[in-house]
Amino acid sequence: MIADSEIELHASRLMVMQAAWKHERGEDIRHESSICKVFVAEAVNRIIDRAVQMCGALGVSADTPLEHFYREARAFRIYDGPSEVHRMVIARDVLRSGNRS
Ligand SMILES: Cc1cc2nc3c(=O)[nH]c(=O)nc-3n(C[C@H](O)[C@H](O)[C@H](O)COP(=O)(O)OP(=O)(O)OC[C@H]3O[C@@H](n4cnc5c(N)ncnc54)[C@H](O)[C@@H]3O)c2cc1C
Repeated sequence: MIADSEIELHASRLMVMQAAWKHERGEDIRHESSICKVFVAEAVNRIIDRAVQMCGALGVSADTPLEHFYREARAFRIYDGPSEVHRMVIARDVLRSGNRS
């Protein structure tokens, strides 16, 4: 579980850094920002969920900040556009451009 979370954190960092790099070069990053929004928001939820699971009952108690993180992170998949809407935009971009990545 720790390795899975580390892999997702690593992928999230690289994804955001690549989008930031393109943005700094003045490139249009609407496609990349939607990809980051979906992947990172969902990865954060999986990572916190694993941390809660590893801690057992302690993970759902008020004795650690995990329960608070869990509640806060759930909204990441909704605000700034729900994942479903970003997926729709990403798929539309891919279909329009033929081959995005
Ligand atoms: C904590 C928090 C902070 C927020 N802060 C701000 C803010 O600062 N400024 C601001 O303007 N807004 C803010 N919002 C609002 C947020 O952007 C909206 O909640 C979000 O865009 C989803 O809109 P909605 O709640 O009307 O859900 P709806 O649009 O009704 O969507 C409900 C659900 O239906 C599904 N869905 C919707 N559209 C599609 C689609 N096309 N295809 C497939 N499924 C779909 C998704 O699962 C979605 O979660 C905030 C929301 C939260 C929870």
